[in-house]
Order: sequence, then C-alpha cells, then structure tokens
Amino acid sequence: MHLSLSLSLIAVVGVTLFTTTPTSAQVASPPKLRCKCLPTDGCWPNEATWTEFGKTVGDRLIATTPVARECHAPYLDQAKCEEIVKGYHKDTWRSLQPGAVMSANWETFRGEGCLLNQTAPCTQGEVPLYTVKALSVADVETTIRFASKHNIRLVVKNTGHDYLGRSTAMNSISLWTHFMKGIKFDDKYTPEGAPAGTEGTDAIILEAGVVWDEAYKAAHENNRMVVGGNHPTVGTSGGFCQSGGHGPLSPRHGLCVDNVLQYKIVTADGILRIANAYQNQDLFWALRGGGPSYGVVVEAVYRTHPPASFVLIVSKITAPDEATMLAISQAFYAHQSQLSKDGQATHSPVPTTSFWLIISPTAPWIPPRLPLSPSLTLCVPSLELKSKWRTMPRSPHTRHSSMPG
Ligand SMILES: Cc1cc2nc3c(=O)[nH]c(=O)nc-3n(C[C@H](O)[C@H](O)[C@H](O)COP(=O)(O)OP(=O)(O)OC[C@H]3O[C@@H](n4cnc5c(N)ncnc54)[C@H](O)[C@@H]3O)c2cc1C
Repeated sequence: MHLSLSLSLIAVVGVTLFTTTPTSAQVASPPKLRCKCLPTDGCWPNEATWTEFGKTVGDRLIATTPVARECHAPYLDQAKCEEIVKGYHKDTWRSLQPGAVMSANWETFRGEGCLLNQTAPCTQGEVPLYTVKALSVADVETTIRFASKHNIRLVVKNTGHDYLGRSTAMNSISLWTHFMKGIKFDDKYTPEGAPAGTEGTDAIILEAGVVWDEAYKAAHENNRMVVGGNHPTVGTSGGFCQSGGHGPLSPRHGLCVDNVLQYKIVTADGILRIANAYQNQDLFWALRGGGPSYGVVVEAVYRTHPPASFVLIVSKITAPDEATMLAISQAFYAHQSQLSKDGQATHSPVPTTSFWLIISPTAPWIPPRLPLSPSLTLCVPSLELKSKWRTMPRSPHTRHSSMPG
C-alpha cells in the first residue's frame, strides 16, 4: 500500500467531485512522484536511527526475515526448521509470523525469495525489511510519520491473507496490526459528531487486528450477529470490508460496507481522523468499497443484528477431468445471479477437478432453490454428478451464529 500515493488520490477525488472552479494551483501542479528510498541509497536511515525509532514504538521493531530462513544454509537451525515445517502450510501459523503472508508466492519476486522447498539460496524476496508490531494508535502514527519522513515504502498487514499480495513488499516497513485485539459492544451507538437526538444503533467496535472468528465469537456471546466473511481467519478492518466484504449473511443484511457506522483511521500525514456520515464523509465513502489504500484503519464500527437461523449446504462435486470441471463451473455461474436473487449466499472455490459449493440460504423457510443437478446435467450431458449435500440449521446455540464454518 502506497500511503503517499493514496493521499494524492484523495486530493484528486476531492478536486474532481467537489470543486466547480479549479484554482490555478490545482490546474498547474500535478502531484510530484518520488522514488522510495532503498537500503542502497544515501537517504536510508543508519543503524542508530533505526534503534532510536525502535524505542519510540516500545521496542517492537522487528528486523524481518523470511519464515523459511532457518531451514536454509547458512542459517540452518534444525529445531526451528521442524517448527517451520509443522506450521508452513497453516494460515493461522502464517498470520503469526512477521515475515509471512498466506500465499507464499507473494513473498518472492522474480524467483528470488526463500521458500521451504527451494534449493536456491534464501534471499529476502518481497518480505519487508522491518516490522512494527503495533499495539496502539500511537504506534501506528509514529510508524507512518517515520516512513513518510524517510520516504520508505510502508505496507500494512493484519493477517497477510490478501489475495493480491498487498500486505507485503520489498524494502518496506510493515505495520503489523494483528495484535490490536480490542472488541466492544454498544447497544446505543451513535457515530461521533452525530446531531443530538440521533437514534442509537446496536454496534460492535473492533480494533484493527481482530479477525472474523474473534468477532463472531464475541457477537455470539452477546446474542448478536455480524456480517463478516466465509473464513474465520480473515481480518475485520482491512481488505475484506474496505473492498466490499461478502458473507453468508449478505443477502439478508447487505455487504460488510453496508454495515459500517464509523472508521477511525490514521491517514498518510500521520493524523488520526474520524470518518462517518457526519464528518470526513468523502473519506468514509472511499473506505466503503474503494479498497485498502486510504490510510490505516485503527478502529471499525459495524452494525450488529439479532440472531437468526439459516441453512448451510456444502457440496463437493467431482469431475473426471479439467474440461468437464470447466463446463460444470460455467453452468454453475450461469445460475449465480438467480441464486443471489433468491436470497442465497454462495461460495464456490474451483480447483481443477472438484468444486466446493457452500450455499447459505438466509432463512430456513426459503427452500433452497437448487436446480443445479438437472441444470448441470443438461449443460454437461455426459456428466455423472457425484455430490454430497449437507444441510444444517444454524441458530445462536451453534458454534458462532454468524458463520457457516
Ligand atoms: C481463506 C480466505 C477466505 C476468504 N473469504 C472471503 C469471503 O467470504 N468474502 C469476501 O468478501 N472476501 C473473502 N476473502 C478475501 C479477503 O477479504 C481479502 O483477501 C482481504 O484482503 C483479506 O484481508 P486481511 O485484512 O485479512 O488481509 P491482509 O493481507 O492483512 O490485508 C489485506 C489488505 O488490507 C490492508 N489492510 C490490512 N489491515 C488494514 C488496516 N487496518 N487499515 C488499512 N488497510 C489495511 C493491507 O495493506 C492489504 O492491502 C477471503 C480470503 C481468504 C484468504
């Protein structure tokens, strides 16, 4: 994430949308682009400056190394390597490593990096050089200001689960929010700056490091539901909700962005801002679907809902070969919009020869509209459909009422 670029983007959006007569300065001066400072450049901070910076963030500055390093000569450490091998393919273990993201390919660049099985030398690849394990808003502000002052690339990471690899980058400082775990509830929440008399809303207030599993569990214990994603280890404040956020409850309660009441965010100038319907509305608008690039969210407030049952159907369809699987996928996607109109949330990861289908009708009294078997057979007449269906009523007394897993 390029914070300096993001701030320019906010400025550009502001000019385009809200200014009718541009000033001469707005017309004349396009934003100046500067290349980021690299370790080989004179602008790179020296050891003493890094040490000093470390003290300002409670000595939680980590010199980051790739996660598989101790399995490679000359860093080989047998005991550590065994631990690495055990955790290497687990997303929960990866979330807890400063040098890892969920998809190891994002830790490499043009073949350079440090994967577990590679025989090539272990190099830094796309792994950040430093990580700040942030525990407070002050840590976030201090890190942004340091990166800005020294013109160093900054990335933000909670879980590292970003499918686009945006939470890791070469020669960067990583701002790691994963341990900011505060969760609060307010049954009469009003956004800051709302006019007196504004009616309160049931809300969950989440610090930046909370993941959906933790939010679901807390909501469940408070007899509430919250719109999150399908997978428990995804973060609540980052790429999920800022990019829309689709989950099993979406047909009933909308996307995650439809449920945001307020964000607290540190922008690229290192200033903490509040964005809601009453202040910084343009920023609030951008944060609800514009993608994670407008600053570092330190607190998100989402609407909660009363508990309700829903039905979960999980199916695995297997096909003899990839061509058949492709035909099945195409037939399924032809039904996707009808399924959504019928109030069903579907998730369908498509590996090469099997097809996981997770369907969550939003109310048990809506019979799941699943003309899939006949339709698929119609589209792929030669297909022998092997699928298992499992239907489970969900209610507040099941594991966490907001999620299917
Ligand atoms: C197993 C799995 C299941 C998924 N299921 C769903 C699903 O059901 N529905 C759905 O909509 N999506 C789903 N996704 C996609 C997921 O929402 C995105 O990959 C998302 O970007 C992950 O966000 P994260 O914060 O966990 O990851 P991270 O990699 O930590 O961060 C993702 C992005 O957000 C930025 N970011 C993180 N924290 C902050 C912050 N506090 N402030 C500003 N920026 C921040 C990072 O810089 C990065 O750009 C799934 C992903 C995975 C891996």
